[in-house]
Amino acid sequence: MDLHRVCVYCGTSGARDPAVEKEVRAFGQEIARRGIGLVYGGSSLGLMGVLADEVIASGGKVIGVIPEALVGREAAHKSVTEMKVVHTMHDRDQTMFDLGDAFVAFPGGFGTLDQILEMITWKQLGIHGKPVVIANIGGYFDPLLQQFENAVRSGYARPHDRIVYAVAANTTAILTLLEGAPVLFRKPGDWA
Ligand code: AMP
Repeated sequence: MDLHRVCVYCGTSGARDPAVEKEVRAFGQEIARRGIGLVYGGSSLGLMGVLADEVIASGGKVIGVIPEALVGREAAHKSVTEMKVVHTMHDRDQTMFDLGDAFVAFPGGFGTLDQILEMITWKQLGIHGKPVVIANIGGYFDPLLQQFENAVRSGYARPHDRIVYAVAANTTAILTLLEGAPVLFRKPGDWA
């Protein structure tokens, strides 16, 4: 697929797992090297800041998208290529969705989980067909993936909806998945 911009969700907290940071940096370097732009939540905090810093340092393009109410609280990054200051959280979700050709979640907290699940549910509903990858660095998302399986096993999710997301453990696997992934054209109601 044509991968111009990848939208990444990840944490803003002070959690510091060296293996996760290393992979986030490797990903940032690699997308910059391949000329793939980054779209992200615009913060300089936590992993979000680490990722943006790395892409910028590697000569890549970074678009931050931040709601005006969070500009002070989430420390808007000062050196991104472009900062889009939007009105509400929902505007941010929509803008990041519109700008991203694909969505990747690296480790993070409730915000990260909310955003990647939104991309999964929108895809399940046929609102889009863009690739969604869970970057399961060091098995961080294993319990979430087990919960997904639990949902299928219990009949709350449909087995064929497993194809709406992919799981990769490192940068090479994420980018292989993204660049080889088909964009699914699925209309609301398809496969229902
Ligand atoms: P976290 O993973 O909790 O550190 O949050 C990562 C990013 O997600 C931060 O930029 C938050 O502003 C954002 N975020 C938090 N809650 C939400 C939400 N309900 N919808 C969209 N983004 C959110």
